[in-house]
Amino acid sequence: MGYLQKKVKEIKERWTVTEKLVLIGNGMAGIRTVEEILKKDASRFQITVFGEEPHPNYNRIMLSSVLQGDSTVDDIVLNDYNWYEENHIELLTGDPIVKVDAEKQVVYSQNGLERSYDKLIFATGSNAFMLPLPGADKEGVIAFRNIKDCETMIETSKKHKKAVVIGGGLLGLEAARGLLNLNMEVDVIHIADFLMERQLDEQAGKMLKTELEAQGMRFHLKKNTKQILGKDRVQGIEFTDGTSLETDLVVMAVGIKPNIALAQEAGLTTERAIVVDDFMQTNVNQIYAVGECAQHRGIAYGLVAPLYEQGKVLAAHICSENESLEHGYQGSLVYTQLKVSGVNVFSAGHFQDSKETKAIRVHDEFEGIYKKVVVQDNKVVGAVLFGDTSDSTRLLSMMRNGDDISAMSKVALLPSESGEAQVSPVVAMADGDNVCDCNGISKGAICSAITENGLTTVEEVKQCTTAGRSCGGCKPLIADLLTLTTGEEVGNMPEPLCGCTEYTHEEVVAEIRELGLSHPREVMNVLGWESDEGCSKCRPAINYYLKMVDPIKNADDPTSRFINERAHANINHNGTFTVVPRMYGGVTDSGQLRKIADVADKYNVPLLKITGGQRIDLFGVEKEDLPNVWSDLGMRSGSAYAKALRTVKTCVGEQFCRFGTQDSIGLGVELEKKFEYINTPHKVKMAVSACPRNCAESGIKDFGVVGVDGGWELYVGGNGGVDLRGGDLFCKVKTKEEIIDTISAFMQYYRENARYLERTSHFVERVGLDQMKQVILEDEEGRKSLINRMEIALSTGKDPWKEIVENEELQKEFKKKQVEVLS
Ligand SMILES: Cc1cc2nc3c(=O)[nH]c(=O)nc-3n(C[C@H](O)[C@H](O)[C@H](O)COP(=O)(O)OP(=O)(O)OC[C@H]3O[C@@H](n4cnc5c(N)ncnc54)[C@H](O)[C@@H]3O)c2cc1C
Ligand code: SF4
Repeated sequence: MGYLQKKVKEIKERWTVTEKLVLIGNGMAGIRTVEEILKKDASRFQITVFGEEPHPNYNRIMLSSVLQGDSTVDDIVLNDYNWYEENHIELLTGDPIVKVDAEKQVVYSQNGLERSYDKLIFATGSNAFMLPLPGADKEGVIAFRNIKDCETMIETSKKHKKAVVIGGGLLGLEAARGLLNLNMEVDVIHIADFLMERQLDEQAGKMLKTELEAQGMRFHLKKNTKQILGKDRVQGIEFTDGTSLETDLVVMAVGIKPNIALAQEAGLTTERAIVVDDFMQTNVNQIYAVGECAQHRGIAYGLVAPLYEQGKVLAAHICSENESLEHGYQGSLVYTQLKVSGVNVFSAGHFQDSKETKAIRVHDEFEGIYKKVVVQDNKVVGAVLFGDTSDSTRLLSMMRNGDDISAMSKVALLPSESGEAQVSPVVAMADGDNVCDCNGISKGAICSAITENGLTTVEEVKQCTTAGRSCGGCKPLIADLLTLTTGEEVGNMPEPLCGCTEYTHEEVVAEIRELGLSHPREVMNVLGWESDEGCSKCRPAINYYLKMVDPIKNADDPTSRFINERAHANINHNGTFTVVPRMYGGVTDSGQLRKIADVADKYNVPLLKITGGQRIDLFGVEKEDLPNVWSDLGMRSGSAYAKALRTVKTCVGEQFCRFGTQDSIGLGVELEKKFEYINTPHKVKMAVSACPRNCAESGIKDFGVVGVDGGWELYVGGNGGVDLRGGDLFCKVKTKEEIIDTISAFMQYYRENARYLERTSHFVERVGLDQMKQVILEDEEGRKSLINRMEIALSTGKDPWKEIVENEELQKEFKKKQVEVLS
C-alpha cells in the first residue's frame, strides 16, 4: 500500500471509529475545552466546531486593546485557521446552529448543514444586554462585545466626534478609554453614584473617577436614560430628569445575558444560564455546557479564568469516560483588574463592610493610593486596591488558601507599606499556585518550562505555556519567575520588538546597519515580519531606527508616525489641535506676544495657556487652520508633539536674579537652538538653573544643568512625570563648550543605544551610570565620534512648520475632508 493510500485509510478509520464531538460556539471557553481534549487524547474525537462569528477563535479580552489602538485584530487571534486544519477539526464559521435535536443527536445550522454527534458542547457565551429603550434600534447604538462592535466604533470615530457610553463598569470604562484614544469626546452615563460599584467601594470608585476625568472622560452619575433621540441615526439621549446630551454614538455596556435560547429550545434546564453539575453535564445525556452560557452552583461566571477551569474539568471528564473522577469543578474565586493604561485597580472577594467584617485601610491622598483588606474570622475575605496593586497576588493567594492571619501585622498583609524594596510575590507562592489565572498556569509549570526549554523571555514563556496569553496582567510575575529561575535580570534580557517579529530592538538596529536597509517595509520584508503592515509598536520604532542609523540617506516615513507627529501639533480630546510655538529658553518679547494674540483672535482660539515648559500653548485649533496659524505666527515649531527635544527651561540667572552668577538664559537658548529638531527615542527635556536653588527644576529633566561655584553640574536621567526620578549627577564642568559637548555625546549615546520609547530615566537605570560615564566622559575617542555623529544628525534637522507653510502639496494633508452626513 502506497503512502497516500495509507494516509486515506488512516483518516477514514479515524472518521469511522472515533466518536463525534460537536462544539457550538467558537469562543474562548469552547476552544479552550477542545485544546484540553487534544492534550489528553488528540485522536479520541472527530471534532466539528460551529461559530456564529466569521473569525477563527480570538481573545475577546483583548478587544479593549484593539479599541485603544495597542493591538490589531490579527494580534488577538488565539488559534488561526491552520490550527484547526492541523488538528483535523472541521470549522464552520459564520454559520450558527439554529436547532438541536437532542433525541436524534443532530444539530442543524443556519446554512442548512447537519451534523450528528455523540457528545455535544454548548459554549455559546453571552450577548451584551441592550437596554430596551425607545430608539435603541437606531443606527449608531451598539454594544461592546465582538470584533464587529470594535470595527463600528473605529469607523464611527472617523466621521463623528461625540460618543456616549452607558455603564460605568469595567467594560464601559474600557470602551470609553478606547473611544478617547480614537479622538472622540466621551460622556459616560452611570446609574449608581460611583463607578464600578460591583467591584469597588465608594472611596476607590471616586478615586477612579478623578483619575479618568484627568484622562478626559466626562461622567454623569445617578442618571437614568429615558430614550435615544434622532431620526434613523442616533443624535442624542434624554434622561428621566429631563436633561439630554448630544451624541453620534451610544455604546451600551450595562451587562451580559447568557446566550441560552437554543439550549432552551433543545429542552435543557436553564435558569439565568444552562444549569450544569460539577462535570459541566446538563440535564440531557451527552450534552454539556461550558463558559458564560453555563450556570454552576447558581453562578454564571463572566471572566475567563473560571471558564478555563471549567474547560479543563469537562475535557478530563469526557476523555476519561468510565473512570470515576473524584473532583469536578468546585467554583472559582474571581478577581477584577481594569485594563486602562495609567490606572491600577484590583478587586476580589467580599470587599464591602458588614457587621461580621473588619477592614485595614490605607489611604494616601498625595500618591493617589487606596488599599482596603477585608477580614472575617481571621481570614482575608476581600480586597480593593487602587493606585498600587503590587500586593494583589499575595492577597489573592491568602484568600484562596484561607490563611489564618491572626498573628500577622499590617505590613505582613500589605508588604508594599513597609517602604522597603519589595520581594516579588512569586517567591512566597507554592508550586501549585496559579501565576496566570486566565489560563490556569501554575508557578511550578512555568518554572519547569523555563528550565526544560531554556526560556529567557516573557514572550517565550507565553508561547511555550500560554501563561500571559489572555489579559496579560501576570506578565510582571512571569518576568520575576524568569529572574528567580535563571538568576538573570529579565529587564536585561532581550524581548522581541513586538508581536510581528522575533527580532529584538537591538537586533533590528544591527540588521539595518549590516544590510543597509532604508525603508520600514524593506526592514519588515527582509526580516520576515509576520504581518505585511507591521503594527503600531514596530512601525514608528523602525522609522526612528532607520533615521538614527543613517540620517542623511534614510528618508522619514510620515505614515509610520503617530497622529501628533504627522500633524505637527497635539491632538485634543475633541479632535482639535494644540499649537505650541517655540520660545527659546522660555524667553519671549512683545512682538511674539502680539502675534500670538492676533492669531488667537483671528482663529477663535478658545484657550491660551502658559505651560511648565515656559511657553504659550494655543489650544483648540482646527486641523485645516494649522498651516495658516503657523504662517501667521511666524514662529518655529516647539516640537511639543515630537520624540525630540521639547524645551530647555531656564531660570532668570545672572541677568536679574541677585543669587545668579551664571548666564542660565543665554546657555538655555543656545542649547535649545542647537538641539531643537533632533529625533530621539522619546521626548527629551532640559533645564538650566544658575545656582543650586534650582528654580528651573534641573533635577527632574532628562538633562539638567545647575550653576555651582566655579562651573556647572550636569545631571542626567531625571523625570518629573509618571515615573518621578531625580537626575543622577553625571559630571562637573567649567565651560559652556564642555557642557555642549557632553550633552551632544550623551544625546547621541542615548539615540544609538536606547530602545524606541525608552525615556532617559529608564535608559540610565538599564545601562548604568558607570558604563555611560566610561563611554561619554573617559573614552576621549569614543566621545569625539559620538559628537561627530550628532553633528551629522543635527545637519538634517528642519522646522516642519516652515516646510509645510512653504509647500502647497504638503498643505493638502490638512484640508478638510468632505464628510458624508448621515441622517
Ligand atoms: C471588551 C471585553 C473585555 C473583557 N475583558 C476581560 C478581562 O479583562 N478578563 C476576563 O477574565 N474577562 C474579560 N472579558 C470577558 C471574557 O471575554 C468572556 O468571559 C469570555 O470571552 C467568555 O467566553 P465564552 O467562550 O463563554 O463566550 P464567547 O467568547 O462569547 O464565545 C461564544 C461564541 O459562541 C458564538 N455563538 C453563540 N451562539 C451560537 C450558535 N448558535 N452557533 C454558533 N456559535 C454561536 C458566539 O458568536 C461567540 O463567538 C471581556 C469581555 C469583553 C467583551
Ligand atoms: S536658580 Fe538661583 S540664579 Fe536661578 S533664579 Fe533661582 S535663585 Fe536665581
